[in-house]
Amino acid sequence: MAPPAGGGDPEAPAPAAERPPAPGPGSGPAAALSPAAGKVPQASAMKRSDPHHQHQRHRDGGEALLSPDGTVTEAPRTVKKQIQFADQKQEFNKRPTKIGRRSLSRSISQSSTDSYSSAASYTDSSDDETSPRDKQQKNSKGSSDFCVKNIKQAEFGRREIEIAEQEMPALMALRKRAQGEKPLAGAKIVGCTHITAQTAVLMETLGALGAQCRWAACNIYSTLNEVAAALAESGFPVFAWKGESEDDFWWCIDRCVNVEGWQPNMILDDGGDLTHWIYKKYPNMFKKIKGIVEESVTGVHRLYQLSKAGKLCVPAMNVNDSVTKQKFDNLYCCRESILDGLKRTTDMMFGGKQVVVCGYGEVGKGCCAALKAMGSIVYVTEIDPICALQACMDGFRLVKLNEVIRQVDIVITCTGNKNVVTREHLDRMKNSCIVCNMGHSNTEIDVASLRTPELTWERVRSQVDHVIWPDGKRIVLLAEGRLLNLSCSTVPTFVLSITATTQALALIELYNAPEGRYKQDVYLLPKKMDEYVASLHLPTFDAHLTELTDEQAKYLGLNKNGPFKPNYYRY
Ligand code: NAD
Repeated sequence: MAPPAGGGDPEAPAPAAERPPAPGPGSGPAAALSPAAGKVPQASAMKRSDPHHQHQRHRDGGEALLSPDGTVTEAPRTVKKQIQFADQKQEFNKRPTKIGRRSLSRSISQSSTDSYSSAASYTDSSDDETSPRDKQQKNSKGSSDFCVKNIKQAEFGRREIEIAEQEMPALMALRKRAQGEKPLAGAKIVGCTHITAQTAVLMETLGALGAQCRWAACNIYSTLNEVAAALAESGFPVFAWKGESEDDFWWCIDRCVNVEGWQPNMILDDGGDLTHWIYKKYPNMFKKIKGIVEESVTGVHRLYQLSKAGKLCVPAMNVNDSVTKQKFDNLYCCRESILDGLKRTTDMMFGGKQVVVCGYGEVGKGCCAALKAMGSIVYVTEIDPICALQACMDGFRLVKLNEVIRQVDIVITCTGNKNVVTREHLDRMKNSCIVCNMGHSNTEIDVASLRTPELTWERVRSQVDHVIWPDGKRIVLLAEGRLLNLSCSTVPTFVLSITATTQALALIELYNAPEGRYKQDVYLLPKKMDEYVASLHLPTFDAHLTELTDEQAKYLGLNKNGPFKPNYYRY
């Protein structure tokens, strides 16, 4: 319980008079949808100087992906590649050949591994090889302001969206609440995210709240073509398909922003590619842009770099570090998806298997809990004595990796660090040991060290490689050391609902904030809104929240409607 706080957190947002919301100060529509009816929460208390937040940034192991000259470095597979933003000359009319396009095909940004979509479940039955850019397509209303693989798949995509809606209660609730008010009326949102059924629910919610949207994909592989078709059919200008080339990727983003008679005034980004495209190509657009909402570790890192360099020219919301994302995406999402990823790739049984989980942060805790529940014998490695003690208290054996590496059946990394599993460890693993990573970057396992002539690689299934030593020993490497759950399993829609609701509220807040509330800096969503996101998801469980009595509220120094915890509270 929070200690009696004599007025609560001094920096916390101003208390609300009432919940659910009624028109608030500024009487803006944001106030109407925000949890605070009396006062829209002040987010300035949660600027990037928040020490907790700084810690988050470091622990996510964000490497310098954007250099001052605008060069972004990523490490897909074992080769470092660079994408030039600064002097990039994209000449879209000079199209690469089909072969050229394919050879360029790769994930554009490491950011694609920051956020989690159910893209892995998608299989494209279409064998149409024609590039969508070469097709003339119209939706049933005659509009051709979109570019998707095949508009005829719209009906199928619509069903996917309807299924996702069932597990996204908060967005559906926002739509209902917004029937009267349109808090995003006049908003022109340009978005760049994974295009999945869950994103479609978000986009259609933004539309219901009054926004106009134009959308591209933040990852060249993750678009669900039928969902993109359904969105295009309902009138959303969507430019995305599964298997875009690098040239296609930037073309799609450009088609979203470079439109006659339409200028975005809000950005919703996942990875920062869209933001940087606008920075480099259309910097004047920022005059009209009211704010950026960024979801991913990588994108947030880029924003902080811009801010540090004094180049951030609009306010930005860091959705990645909001409590509702961190706690739910990292802990619960991984708890649900680790077994799915392992099962789909290996068909293994977990009972009695010896597993070592490297890192006992949120992700590690989720993985350990799931494996323990299945009867696995779980060991943990940690560098931080606090997390290490937590592991011990939760009943796990804390070991050094060296101590168990010869005996374990599965090795899982969740540290956000690099070279946690080295070639030496890999050499010592027993035959058939499964090795995988749940952390953000593919550097946790030293996969590059396995690309040596004496080792043979055998692709046995999609995302499953056997690496074979000269004596016949083989290890089972999943997703080449990339995020297992993003690559090999689905991610629960409900978790994505929490993140998507946070994004929607961040957009509403930034769009409606009165002049001066947010400066050219990076902010966390006000805690009250985090609480609101959570409260919108409670009815799914028929959960009954206890309300503070007046006496209790006074005793704790809290407003009855929140925020209920100080910003430093760790949950
Ligand atoms: P965290 O900081 O809470 O936990 C990481 C833990 O690893 C820390 O406790 C740290 O002390 C420990 N650690 C660091 N180096 C270590 C080492 N060499 N050996 C052992 N332990 C070490 O972070 P988190 O929220 O658990 O996220 C971990 C990683 O997973 C991040 O890269 C994050 O971006 C990623 N992530 C993945 C998913 C997913 O769905 N797979 C979801 C969210 C986050």
